[in-house]
Amino acid sequence: MSESAPLSEELEISVFGPGIGECVVAHLGFGDWIVVDSCIDRRSGRPVALQYLESIGVDVRQAIKLIVATHWHDDHILGLSHVLQASEQARFVNSAVYRLQQLARLVELGKSTAPLTSATNEYDNILEILADRRAVGARRKAVGPIPALANKVVLALRGPDRQFHATVHAMSPADGVFNLAQTELEHALSFAETRRRPVRLTPNQSSVVLWLEAGVHNVLLGADLEFVRRPSEGWRAIVNNTERPIGQAMCFKVPHHGSANADCPECWDSLLKPSPITVITPYGPSKLPRSSDLDRLCRRTANVYLTGDPRLYNLPRRDSTVERTLKEVVISRKAATGKMGQVCVRWRALDLDGAPVIALKNGAWHACAAA
Ligand SMILES: [Zn+2]
Repeated sequence: MSESAPLSEELEISVFGPGIGECVVAHLGFGDWIVVDSCIDRRSGRPVALQYLESIGVDVRQAIKLIVATHWHDDHILGLSHVLQASEQARFVNSAVYRLQQLARLVELGKSTAPLTSATNEYDNILEILADRRAVGARRKAVGPIPALANKVVLALRGPDRQFHATVHAMSPADGVFNLAQTELEHALSFAETRRRPVRLTPNQSSVVLWLEAGVHNVLLGADLEFVRRPSEGWRAIVNNTERPIGQAMCFKVPHHGSANADCPECWDSLLKPSPITVITPYGPSKLPRSSDLDRLCRRTANVYLTGDPRLYNLPRRDSTVERTLKEVVISRKAATGKMGQVCVRWRALDLDGAPVIALKNGAWHACAAA
């Protein structure tokens, strides 16, 4: 982990990943931080975002201004409610589609109760915290996460004591995806008695992609958004969106652990600078990224970094119980010996040409052989 916090005029993107989780922590200048998704450090049992920020002397109660749940998959949300609990000043954002999907699912399940998952637990805890913190006079029913939709500014940092502004835009879900989710809910309601499953958007398809602007630089955080052929969905909807912020990002959190179904050829020209710094978090259970994914990404830029080694999780296929046990053993063995991988990128917010400083910690590595 980093020894010291970045300077006021420095930006930082730190990506953490233990092999089955993902968390991005970003400094947007002047001591203001945001946290995107969450995972737990198995050695300490604490959310890695809090652990890291405390280790570099950041007062998380005041410093974290925004927390985003890109989507409610377990590899992205573990410990998120603890991060919110500790961050007294933070806005909380999630996909505008999430509620619609939840409702559709509840309708589909009829009267039977939904299984308890970490996602519903985290969500319920977050609602409680937001309700407790509501402004005097605000109705309890008006409290909830801020719904992210494409072209919505979810954070603006413009204090008089800042030398430069910082803004966080949601780039997804696209309007078309929102409409689709609404239609799915209507279908679920009308088909509830026949128990027919409506065609369902996956959480990845409605996950929240973020565009960070600070000083003269931009960063694109790709969540788990997938590539969909239709122009109104997935990455194509972002590329085709004429209202999105202008500019090209110099740093890119690759969507969906580098998988081929999240690859967006058009994005490299329209959203990213040449040779952007590119960060991937592995996802062991799906053996992502594959070596073909790394080859593909390294052809785009020589600056591809991973928070951990996916080969560690590439176990031979066995019967599923054995495989699951093996995975747990391997993961806990790694947890016992190593810390959580971190790719930390720092650069000066107002320096257009300065080279970013990249620190690879606890097993994070550079994937492209020839730089
Ligand atoms: Zn994921």
